[in-house]
Amino acid sequence: MEILDSYVGGEWKRGSGDGESLVDPTTEAVIGTTSTDGLDWQGAVDFARREGGPALRALTFAQRGELLRAMSRAIHGARDELIEAGIRNGGNTRGDAKFDVDGASGTLAHYADLAATLGDAKVLVDGDTIQLGRAPRFVGQHVFVPKVGAAVHVNAFNFPAWGLGEKAACALLAGMPVITKPAASTALVAWKIAKLVAPLLPRGAFSFVAGPPGGLLMPLGAQDVVAFTGSSRTAAALRALPGVVQGSLRLNVEADSLNAAVLGPDVSPGSDTWNLFLKDVVREMTQKAGQKCTAIRRAFVPRALAAEVEEELVARLREVKVGDPSHDGVTVGPLATAPQLRSGRAGIEKLATGARVVIGGTGPFEKVGVTGDKGYFLPPTLLVCDAPDGATAVHEHEVFGPVATLLAYDGSAAHAAALVAKGGGGLVCTVYSDDRAFVAEALFAIAPFHGRVMLASEKIADQAPGPGTVLPQMLHGGPGRAGGGEELGGLRGLALYSQRVAVQGSRPILEALLGLKKG
Ligand code: NAP
Repeated sequence: MEILDSYVGGEWKRGSGDGESLVDPTTEAVIGTTSTDGLDWQGAVDFARREGGPALRALTFAQRGELLRAMSRAIHGARDELIEAGIRNGGNTRGDAKFDVDGASGTLAHYADLAATLGDAKVLVDGDTIQLGRAPRFVGQHVFVPKVGAAVHVNAFNFPAWGLGEKAACALLAGMPVITKPAASTALVAWKIAKLVAPLLPRGAFSFVAGPPGGLLMPLGAQDVVAFTGSSRTAAALRALPGVVQGSLRLNVEADSLNAAVLGPDVSPGSDTWNLFLKDVVREMTQKAGQKCTAIRRAFVPRALAAEVEEELVARLREVKVGDPSHDGVTVGPLATAPQLRSGRAGIEKLATGARVVIGGTGPFEKVGVTGDKGYFLPPTLLVCDAPDGATAVHEHEVFGPVATLLAYDGSAAHAAALVAKGGGGLVCTVYSDDRAFVAEALFAIAPFHGRVMLASEKIADQAPGPGTVLPQMLHGGPGRAGGGEELGGLRGLALYSQRVAVQGSRPILEALLGLKKG
């Protein structure tokens, strides 16, 4: 039994009381506990601001990058132990757990490489120097400087490693100290990472809250940042925080998303693009048991191809083995918690009010390596919605599990885009087509509703990692239902933790102070 402690104020501390239980979702056995009751929240935030901020800001980008590289190496070095923890506490298959752990070390390594390209600079320059006066000596320059508060990271249960790593990479490189909080239910992996990385960083640069948030967000103000990943419901509560409403506390929200995949009418059965579409839909439904914010929830296919796509997907999903994620051959483990299972089942019932279940559902099903009725298992479930224009639940309700709905459209890009937009804003939409005219029309109609658009075609069929993989080079986030936030995107990810300032003055002074190239 692990008792998870928190690292705040430069010390490992246990909360009082019994706290919350961490459960193995395969067996329902309690494997750990965590409590944050009684922690000194004001003290934790003050310590990060006072000690961690100045220590990081004294470093160059290259030096901060070396910290990220050390974190990446430490996580990679403990890969096997972290994967085991992901299987035990998250119900991940080995592949799912690797995806999370390698996502963390890979993203940190990517930002370490980016940092090296910035060298000895401490200020990030934004755009070119602009001549402001009649004479060239009066100029202006936009720069990003680190905010001087604390960056509080609140993560969802599904990516305890990657969520910690990707947020920490951007904040630490920007020069802000991090206080990171995983979801309590799956905190084991993040706690193990915290134990590894805390000693590698300057005092106060990294703090870890092992359980419920308590009063962590209450002391925050205009120089602090909250980067939140989780449900729209919690996001709504955070938007009402006094610091946000009255104090200009910067809040970034990564929330729900009804990600879409659109199969173009030009795609013929058996082609590379067709196979890529089917492979991606099945992967996105099954990887991490569908508990990915970027998973395809709605697959749009031209009406003429709908029956064939349905048949192919059902055949592939029938082969998927659900069960104990430590068993060979099992590719779908349990959902992470009992509430997630309840909500997944209720979600399927809700979707079924406007669609029919063609495989899976809420009834009994076969599980590998599981005794009795233990575990939070949900089978891969595909629904078909025959009347997508009038449907509501499928465009409004995210079922956070191995669940997707197939919807037919009339074959025009305009109709596909109009249906996609009913999702109210998403993280990613993929268009599978080799017809440039269709792709062009679809791209510009769906782009305003998404943070990322993937154009999948036969030319990249053998290379694309799939829309569900968030790459550090590219933005992650989306408008509307997805929360309106932005993370990652290479150096763009540092903006959240920085103040963009327009500096005006004489060219030699700006060149000297901001480290600009001489004009
Ligand atoms: P959640 O219930 O909203 O919890 C997310 C995090 O918020 C947890 O760490 C939770 O802590 C914390 N939290 C809850 N109430 C809080 C409060 N009042 N103040 C501060 N923190 C609070 O979401 P979840 O069930 O973990 O995650 C599933 C959802 O996340 C799905 O809807 C999914 O779409 C979304 N998600 C989005 C992305 C993205 O990048 N857009 C990525 C992954 C997941 P405790 O666990 O301690 O309660």
